[in-house]
Amino acid sequence: MQLVIKNLSKTYPGGVRALDNISMTIPTGMFGLLGPNGAGKSTLMRTLATLQNADSGSAMLGDLDLLHEKTKVREILGYLPQEFGVYPRTSATTLLTHLATLKGVGATSAQRKEIVYALLNRVNLFDVRNKSVATFSGGMRQRFGIAQALLGDPKLLIVDEPTAGLDPGERNRFYNLLSEVGESVVVILSTHIVEDVKELCTNMSIIHRGRLLFAGAPSQAEASLDGKIWSKSMSKDDLKRCQAEMDVISTKLIEGRPSVRVYSTQDPMNGFRSVEPNLEDMFFYQIKQNSRTGAAA
Ligand code: ADP
Repeated sequence: MQLVIKNLSKTYPGGVRALDNISMTIPTGMFGLLGPNGAGKSTLMRTLATLQNADSGSAMLGDLDLLHEKTKVREILGYLPQEFGVYPRTSATTLLTHLATLKGVGATSAQRKEIVYALLNRVNLFDVRNKSVATFSGGMRQRFGIAQALLGDPKLLIVDEPTAGLDPGERNRFYNLLSEVGESVVVILSTHIVEDVKELCTNMSIIHRGRLLFAGAPSQAEASLDGKIWSKSMSKDDLKRCQAEMDVISTKLIEGRPSVRVYSTQDPMNGFRSVEPNLEDMFFYQIKQNSRTGAAA
């Protein structure tokens, strides 16, 4: 099964074109939707999750029309929104059981209990199942969010910016959990964190200002810049000159000294050395290119 999105567009009443003729095909497995804040990711996620309407275009999961068969979509959808609501002072078991009931999961309460326990186990919250979710850490809340999204064995799982605010250990646990889920379902992970996509996703796209800038495997994204990324460590004064004269992709301080990565199809000389392109280079490069075309329009 794959999700096929064609010519999806959305302009908000204020005039912001949040989705600009987006077309892409998303196969089973983990798909990363990478874009900076304001790129249009939530708009796309919410549209696919039947929570808002597009102006035009289509989205089909197999035979299912995601934009029009909303009731059916909700039966096969798992959704972890960016803000997963308020966490009440009820236990994880009680809350998940309540959500299972709302979703019509499990024919009897015994079956429901079995499903809820299995899910709490899967997301590694079984030991704290009787604790109030209000006391959970950010990482535990996100794992609880995945448990609720997995109720009813979804065919399409949408997770919107799930790792924002997690510490590195929590983020790793969350990665492991998601990578196990991703084998048999279409999972769309929206994020502005390049590492999320690099660690987890077999396919990805980059969006910015509502436009699709790249779609493919992360390794293809990197390979497309082969031989075109150059790096040099320089003084702060030289950095200013470099920014004015060259196509600077990113600047990092290494031990207090600027280290610059530039895009160039030819050897820039002057002490620059050729470096392996990484996904972050591709992300910054695409955004920079798109900002230029945006400014000219
Ligand atoms: P992302 O999830 O990538 O941060 P969004 O989809 O939330 O991006 O937003 C895309 C653009 O649409 C932004 O410029 C944002 O300000 C604008 N936008 C989002 N929601 C609304 C809304 N309800 N009304 C008007 N503009 C909106």
